[in-house]
Amino acid sequence: MKLRIAGTVGDSIVDGPGLRLTIFVQGCPHHCPGCHNPHTHDFEGGRDTTVEELFAAYCENPLLRGVTLSGGEPFCQPAPLAQLAHLVHAHGGDVFCYTGYTYEQLCEKQDPAVDALLGEIDVLIDGPFLLEERDLTLRFRGSANQRMIDIPRTREAGEIVLWE
Ligand code: SF4
Repeated sequence: MKLRIAGTVGDSIVDGPGLRLTIFVQGCPHHCPGCHNPHTHDFEGGRDTTVEELFAAYCENPLLRGVTLSGGEPFCQPAPLAQLAHLVHAHGGDVFCYTGYTYEQLCEKQDPAVDALLGEIDVLIDGPFLLEERDLTLRFRGSANQRMIDIPRTREAGEIVLWE
């Protein structure tokens, strides 16, 4: 299955715990002032790739603990990313995902593809980057409004459970 990405980083230690493959998807509708990745906003930019190619890149390095979906906005391409995340889980890895939407906004979409991707995410870092809440000391986050949500426990509890 095809998707459009800006690029990948094969050995990231800043986008979640352990060594990770970070995938920067292409296209973002949020346009947060102060965004660090403005080149990922244009839906016509970047390059095409496939789930198979990205999963092969993940499998190439046995030291990887998981993948991080970043952007760009991952929830603009939920179907291929859900497929990739499923493969990573089956391979024993974990999945972190950044989004400019809040968790509540994603649930309100009532979109089966969005729900499928949520179902394959371990930790969701949600909400737009807010320049006025920027905090360089935060772990894995850019601004204080963003939450690190434990998705499986949140779904089980029916209320937001933060990842520790
Ligand atoms: S959601 Fe992320 S990629 Fe999109 S504009 Fe905001 S900070 Fe940039």
